[in-house]
Amino acid sequence: MDYEQAFAAAIAALKDERRYRVFTDLARQAGRFPRATNHSRPDCPDVIIWCSNDYLGMGQHPVVLRAMTEAVARFGAGAGGTRNISGNNHPLVLLERTLADLHGKEAGLVFTSGFVSNDATLSTIGRVLKGCIIYSDALNHASMIAGIRHSGCERRVFRHNDLAHLESLLASDDPARPKLIAFESVYSMDGDIAPLAAICDLADRYHAMTYLDEVHAVGMYGARGGGVSERAGVAHRIDVIEGTLAKAVGVIGGYITASALLVDAIRSYAPGFIFTSALPPAIAAAAIASVEHLKAHDEIRQRHQERAATLKRLLGQAGLPVMPSVSHIVPLFVGEAGRCKQASDMLLDEYGIYIQPINYPTVPRGAERLRITPTPLHDDAMMSHLVDALGLVWDRLGLRRAAA
Ligand SMILES: *Cc1c(COP(=O)(O)O)cnc(C)c1O
Repeated sequence: MDYEQAFAAAIAALKDERRYRVFTDLARQAGRFPRATNHSRPDCPDVIIWCSNDYLGMGQHPVVLRAMTEAVARFGAGAGGTRNISGNNHPLVLLERTLADLHGKEAGLVFTSGFVSNDATLSTIGRVLKGCIIYSDALNHASMIAGIRHSGCERRVFRHNDLAHLESLLASDDPARPKLIAFESVYSMDGDIAPLAAICDLADRYHAMTYLDEVHAVGMYGARGGGVSERAGVAHRIDVIEGTLAKAVGVIGGYITASALLVDAIRSYAPGFIFTSALPPAIAAAAIASVEHLKAHDEIRQRHQERAATLKRLLGQAGLPVMPSVSHIVPLFVGEAGRCKQASDMLLDEYGIYIQPINYPTVPRGAERLRITPTPLHDDAMMSHLVDALGLVWDRLGLRRAAA
């Protein structure tokens, strides 16, 4: 066996399909959000980042940076081990209380990432509930799919946000079997939002548990940033609310909040929690500062929504094919992988604008797009620069304008 040849063939296949990924070598500039230095070029020009999941710029907020630096000075760099062996630390315990409070739950549990929190929690719930059936939205994130696979449970995939399909699946299964409905609030590629209350109604009717990924909503929706479940007034009806500390919170890590008993079971049984080192105390301290700041500053969320609405309007007025989205996510339709990458390259090289192309398998073939995430720190001048640049790139590549 020529091992190197096998890896080369795997890479060549991706390049053939035009879905080989290139990471741009950028350095963010603390205090100058959303600017970055482009190290992919010898002259290292400045660029404006338009596709960050640091949705509110909290990753550079002075309150967060101060909390992190002070914690490093007090507690040092690492955690010292797993939570079981010497790695539990006071800031992490406080962070779990902060998160439980954010979602109005009894308890919280922090993981090293949102991916790990979904994988570890879903797989463990599924193994604890013997004979459980998991109902999974067709557009659920890869981390939820991994957790559901690892649970060993029977899985039913319902069409995206399709209540009738979900109900028909629930109704055709044995009423005596345990059931879990797993879904997201904001879906990050289309920017649409799940009908949370109606899914909770179905869960009540068929005695199912509910598991909600609020990764793209935590910090951004609800009066205190508790997500769409807070805004819709249904957080108390969801059994497990999962989130990340790496997107709007601006740091790193993932978590669940739920009843004290459920959290205790995950803490006690999930290998993805038990056998990995804890997050460092400075990360926990920074996350607390960020979440508490967001709880108290609804005006950040209002500005965020205003910025997203403004950008959608400007793109529409320029005849650019902005896709329907009811959230802060602004997808721009391209529909072909090669030109999606070309548009992204031109924006970066010629206009100092960084927007990653979104290609298969993240979205279906033929639905390739540029996914734009305006933040409260993208001002009017940046927006008109972006819209002008997009218009020029669209014309040069002969891309389709919006059906006016
Ligand atoms: C990014 C993402 C995750 C994973 O969170 P990380 O903290 O980045 O590991 C989970 N769910 C969804 C929907 C995501 O987009």
